[in-house]
Amino acid sequence: MLRALYPGSFDPVTNGHLDVLARAARLFDEVVVAVAHNESKKGLFTPEERVELLRESTAALLNVRVTSFEGLLVDFARAQNAKAVIRGLRAVSDFEFEFQLALMNRSLEPSLEALFLMPSEEYTYLSSRLVKEVARLGGDVGRFVPQCVQSALANRFARVGASSTVRGEEALPGDSPLAP
Ligand code: ADP
Repeated sequence: MLRALYPGSFDPVTNGHLDVLARAARLFDEVVVAVAHNESKKGLFTPEERVELLRESTAALLNVRVTSFEGLLVDFARAQNAKAVIRGLRAVSDFEFEFQLALMNRSLEPSLEALFLMPSEEYTYLSSRLVKEVARLGGDVGRFVPQCVQSALANRFARVGASSTVRGEEALPGDSPLAP
């Protein structure tokens, strides 16, 4: 059984993540999507909510399993008997950090391979952060995220109000380029 891990924040899952996941699911017997618990990086959604949204969005992908993890990725990969870590590469700007991360993980666990997949070009500009910002400002994110995520975003922002800062979320650089 050739198993890969696809780790990330997924706060929330976007169509870009799903594009990469579908590609990975065609290459491996099983892909484990792993939501990282990161205490220092509070998100809009809790890890449990992100897992739930991912489960709903990936229900049709039969060899995909969704879970969450704490601690070192390489330890989790070992425990799952995963042979590769999938990461998405959108643009050159992703490369430097991903390169560092992959080499660090390799030094911690040489047998774990990093595999980079490119999404369809229509998703190269898509990020969870921008999707949250558009949704917060009342924009239509229906083209960028699955239906369940669109509803979850609408609920979340209806409750907190567009002007609030959501649970310590970082503002976009220059506050918000989307709203002068
Ligand atoms: P992280 O905080 O680990 O970067 P993300 O949820 O932002 O978590 O991303 C998880 C992985 O998915 C990363 O490898 C990232 O590059 C990739 N990714 C994010 N958005 C997209 C997208 N639109 N297309 C392809 N890959 C993406």
